[in-house]
Amino acid sequence: MAHKDSVAVIGLGRFGRSLALELVDEDTEVLGIDENPEVVQLLSGSLTHVVRADSTNESALRQLAVHEFDRAVVAIGSDLEASILTASLLVSFGIQDVWAKAISEAHGRILSQLGVRHVVYPEHDMGRRVAHLVRGRMLDYI
Ligand code: ATP
Repeated sequence: MAHKDSVAVIGLGRFGRSLALELVDEDTEVLGIDENPEVVQLLSGSLTHVVRADSTNESALRQLAVHEFDRAVVAIGSDLEASILTASLLVSFGIQDVWAKAISEAHGRILSQLGVRHVVYPEHDMGRRVAHLVRGRMLDYI
């Protein structure tokens, strides 16, 4: 895998999975990492590489050459500790573009303080987006 043009997606829940599959559809090489063997099994064959690993384990990440990536996404939300520990490792590797999903403002603030360059709030942002769609749809009836 040409790490420089590839993306590491850590956490393959609903958000991470959908993001990883979309990247693959757009011809980006994706290394997917999740600690759940069932998730890994489900996605094997759909991503460039899918590996079972605990992303809070530095040596596991190094073995997978995650430190050589320029772009990585932490798509772990509800497990705050795993999200923060993983993000902190990615930042310490010197990865230029670290993206991370936050499930609350406080979570997002901690991620930013750690040096995560791009913090996203999928549920909050999608709520706003759907509100615009709903308004647009309603305008059709006025
Ligand atoms: P979604 O809404 O996208 O499904 P979520 O925020 O509810 O996500 P989480 O339970 O936080 O989901 O985790 C998303 C994925 O991250 C899960 O598939 C989980 O197995 C994986 N995950 C959680 N902790 C770790 C970890 N330490 N190492 C690797 N993968 C992890």
